[in-house]
Amino acid sequence: MKKVSLIIPCYNEEESLPFFYKEAKEVLSKINYDYELLFVNDGSKDETLSILKKYASEDEHVKYFSFSRNFGKEAAMYAGFCNAQGDYIAVMDADLQDPPSLLPEMLQILETGEYDSVATRRENREGEPKIRSWFARKFYQIINKISDADIVDGARDFRLMRKEMVDAIVSMSEYNRFSKGIFGWIGFKTYWMAYENVERVAGETKWNFWKLFKYAIDGIINFSLAPISIASWFGIFMTLCSFIALLIVIIRQLIFGDPVAGWASTICVIIFIGGIQLFCLGVIGQYIAKTYMETKHRPHFIVSDTNSEDAVKVK
Ligand code: UDP
Ligand code: MG
Repeated sequence: MKKVSLIIPCYNEEESLPFFYKEAKEVLSKINYDYELLFVNDGSKDETLSILKKYASEDEHVKYFSFSRNFGKEAAMYAGFCNAQGDYIAVMDADLQDPPSLLPEMLQILETGEYDSVATRRENREGEPKIRSWFARKFYQIINKISDADIVDGARDFRLMRKEMVDAIVSMSEYNRFSKGIFGWIGFKTYWMAYENVERVAGETKWNFWKLFKYAIDGIINFSLAPISIASWFGIFMTLCSFIALLIVIIRQLIFGDPVAGWASTICVIIFIGGIQLFCLGVIGQYIAKTYMETKHRPHFIVSDTNSEDAVKVK
């Protein structure tokens, strides 16, 4: 019998876990597959771990991996991928925003053998602040223009994949992970399924605007060198401009003499150019910082507690 692995990153999800567990069990008991539920406790500060331990003691399908601290959702997903043993593997949020009820249909599509993964995207962004939607849309437009990673607007991390595809993801062991980009970058044939946005069942989102903004910038820097070339093109452009300005000043001096004026505007130009230089340095700094973190080869996650005997605990 084929096996399905569900990876569920959990960070302070004590309120939504019971809902998730009940619904997931209901769906999984109806399908004709063996299954495992891999809960990754990402350093929660509430009762998440004890709830997971309770499930694990009652249900042999449940495995939990508890991190030594909060490593972030990307690390939690990576830990899940490293430990999943199923033929089909999916990542799902613990808050039922990724409805388990879609799984049977997703499995059917993969069974036809035509696709390697079934990915989901939100049809609408209802229930989300307008300004956030606007930034999100701009982010997708920009990143698709300037990078190789093909990222679909509204794509969620919820997707069901064949084991081969997950092996490819595991092989991309970069420290700065941006899964939406990685999924697109590795290729494979993907079927896109749209569904209406659902609100969280309980608890609160862990993402505020600032965190999302930083996540978006990370995504761009991880998958594109465009910001760095924009910086150098800007440098070339400014050099040309100043050269032309210099010519104008010299010619004016020769023809009209020097009426000494424009102290204020000079300062403005100096500050403006100084600002641009600092900005470009910052862009370059971002790439150097990423390279620095990559060269350290630090592990993505550290599992301090698990019920799985052959678990990958550090990677
Ligand atoms: N999550 C995690 N580590 C974190 C933040 C979030 O494992 O540092 C998990 C969280 O428990 C949830 C999923 O990632 O299962 C998505 O988080 P959330 O629902 O807060 O994000 P949203 O759906 O609002 O984008
Ligand atoms: Mg959510």
